[in-house]
Amino acid sequence: MKIPLVDLKIQYESIKPEIDIAIQRVIDNTAFIMGKEVAAFEEAFAAYCGARYAVGVSSGTGALFLTLLGYGIGPGDEVITTPFTFFATGEAISQVGARPVFVDVDPVTYNIDPNQIADAITPYTKAIMPVHLYGQPAEMDAINALAKKHDLVVIEDAAQAHGSTYNGQRPGTLGDAACFSFYPSKNLGCFGDGGAVVTNDERLAQRVRSLRDHGRSSKYEHAELGYGHRLDGIQAAILRAKLPHLDDWNEGRRQRAARYSELLADTVVITPQHLPQTTPVYHCYVIRTPQRDRVLQHLRDAGVGVGVHYPIPLHLQPAYRHLELEPGSFPVSETLAGEVLSLPIYAELSDEQQDYVVEHIRQSLDG
Ligand SMILES: *Cc1c(COP(=O)(O)O)cnc(C)c1O
Repeated sequence: MKIPLVDLKIQYESIKPEIDIAIQRVIDNTAFIMGKEVAAFEEAFAAYCGARYAVGVSSGTGALFLTLLGYGIGPGDEVITTPFTFFATGEAISQVGARPVFVDVDPVTYNIDPNQIADAITPYTKAIMPVHLYGQPAEMDAINALAKKHDLVVIEDAAQAHGSTYNGQRPGTLGDAACFSFYPSKNLGCFGDGGAVVTNDERLAQRVRSLRDHGRSSKYEHAELGYGHRLDGIQAAILRAKLPHLDDWNEGRRQRAARYSELLADTVVITPQHLPQTTPVYHCYVIRTPQRDRVLQHLRDAGVGVGVHYPIPLHLQPAYRHLELEPGSFPVSETLAGEVLSLPIYAELSDEQQDYVVEHIRQSLDG
């Protein structure tokens, strides 16, 4: 049996007519960059998140970058975030000229540990950027309380968390702004690069709208220097077609996740835990074991697509050597980097496929 880590084809086939019509509509209108499709998607996605504004941009990284710029964060400033995330989280902070200040993660949720944030706050701190890792919202009440006390902006990296909830509310309303990625394999993905900034902050939404499109104030007038970070019409049309299915797909992922956890309950591997106030969306289903590398190899040999999210914490990346953070600086993140393993998860995954994956995990643990 061959089971891919991500199966984009099977999802496309399930809604092929809706997607094909959407793409053809853009071709017929030739509104390839921005335009009506983008505006309509922005409206639908803001409503879905329960927020006032969504601004479509070129990628999740672009969303993070423009949000930081939009809040005036730059050289001399510090932004607190987790080292246990995709590289782009730290990269966006560095790209605006600010300094990422890492805080280790909680050993149960793998999200930034709010109890360690206060010690990292300095007079230069401007923002906290929690990541809703694998689709589980970070501990936003504690993070927001700290932000309020120290007058900091809270920017959610929601690239893995479309449709998740924290106390019944969705990313985009949990901090000052949330940054989404529509990279094809994300819970809501387009057929290329795409992203969005979702916020209730009217000023920020206007700033990001200007910055994504060359600081344009009218067709030929540029009020400031901006960037080429626009969203394409075809991507927006695909996202509009997919959005109504997102809740079903997320529910499918949750059911698959619950089934994995049940099947693995009597093994030594640690299965994902989530806080009672959250509804996770399982962008990844991640198990944890010190025997990770053996299990990984065995699954690969058996034709199962597996991943490691993430094998190198940001502070140990070559690109961050200049921060001079030694191994041992963030012990929980470093241990997780050696022990986590992502299994195939999507709504269309079958019982047989899951049984096959679990059977091979058991075999590798025995062997
Ligand atoms: C995917 C991802 C990003 C970047 O999104 P792109 O659209 O690929 O630029 C940022 N942060 C996290 C946590 C991600 O998973």
